[in-house]
Amino acid sequence: MPNLPEIQERIDAAVDQASKRLAEANRRIWENPELAYEEHIAHDTLCEILEENGYEVTRHAYGVDTSFEASFGSGGRLMIFCAEYDALPDIGHACGHNLIGIASLTAFLASASVLKMTNQPGRIRILGTPAEEHGGGKLDLLHAGAFEGADVALMSHPMPHHYYHETYGTVGAAGARLVAKQSKVAHYHGRTAHPAANPWDGANALDAVIAGYNNVSLLRQQMHPDQRVHCAIIDAPKRTNIIAGQTSIAWQCRSPKISDLHKLADRLCSCLQAGALATGCELDLKNETAYSDLLVNDTLCALYQGHMASYGQNVLKTDPNYIQASTDFGDVSYALPGIHAMFCIPVSEKGVVTHHVSFTEAAGTEEAFNICLTVGKCLALCACDLLEDDTKYNAVVSDWKIAKSGST
Ligand SMILES: [Zn+2]
Ligand SMILES: [Zn+2]
Repeated sequence: MPNLPEIQERIDAAVDQASKRLAEANRRIWENPELAYEEHIAHDTLCEILEENGYEVTRHAYGVDTSFEASFGSGGRLMIFCAEYDALPDIGHACGHNLIGIASLTAFLASASVLKMTNQPGRIRILGTPAEEHGGGKLDLLHAGAFEGADVALMSHPMPHHYYHETYGTVGAAGARLVAKQSKVAHYHGRTAHPAANPWDGANALDAVIAGYNNVSLLRQQMHPDQRVHCAIIDAPKRTNIIAGQTSIAWQCRSPKISDLHKLADRLCSCLQAGALATGCELDLKNETAYSDLLVNDTLCALYQGHMASYGQNVLKTDPNYIQASTDFGDVSYALPGIHAMFCIPVSEKGVVTHHVSFTEAAGTEEAFNICLTVGKCLALCACDLLEDDTKYNAVVSDWKIAKSGST
């Protein structure tokens, strides 16, 4: 078995060779932001690079139109790199998922080059995981069996530079605890009437939305500081001379652990039901996707931290605080051991945050692309560690079992 510097040399060479095409792919995905389940350009772009490199690609994998899959190797354990590539409405790649897709593709190409050199048992796979921002593509893929038989899942996510640098002086965190999230949509059915001539005949669905909203505002006083509830009115009356007969409002609630989230979600339901009761409307409350919190794997994080250090990148092993964001990789982290490393990219000014157009700009720079290549290399090195080393792999499984049981 080659030693670590030899493996690193091989990985550096493979990534160097692929970097021009990876840069073009990154540019194309960033310039063509696509929403959840509509990421056709990103899907085709990543599939083309895999095919150019001689890998057989299953396009539209697992019945998900914008998912894909390619594998390499035989025997041994199976590592899956998750590639995200969806964007946000109006603000493009403001979460930088173009970089996630490229980092995971880099990791796949790099670790495949190592397997070709060593001829050791072991399998790697890249899985296109669309719709992280809305809908939860990884939940579809989990249910369709895409992670069955896999041993470890790996991915990364960009953050603004100052997020870690200001507090910790680092350029990222190998492990970050993202919170659990539940989405719900409340449809209120009232009764239309003339608002001046006979308002007493109406049941005001707009008032139901507002009453529910105000109830949630009261609930906030009793919520834990780590919990969040937020909403968007998605169907509101457009006319003033009709008492609203129909309204809809989408809600999301978040809590550090999925177990606490259910209690918060129940309280949210009570607030929304009270809005209906007070106004004489009917409430049709639909549960949409729920994302589990993200489990952190200590051993895997230490491996990634060590590899990033070998490239001169100082990252925290684990972010001590909860990050108030959620990911469908949370559910993956409960199904099998995983890493969701956070890496910082340069931003034009302090105060830039994700889901803002200033972060869109940051996610399209050459500097951000270069960092994501390094991250991809380090994810590949982690995969190589776990394919080859039973002790490290067993430690990863043991950490995962402890984290799942809630004792960390
Ligand atoms: Zn996002
Ligand atoms: Zn994101």
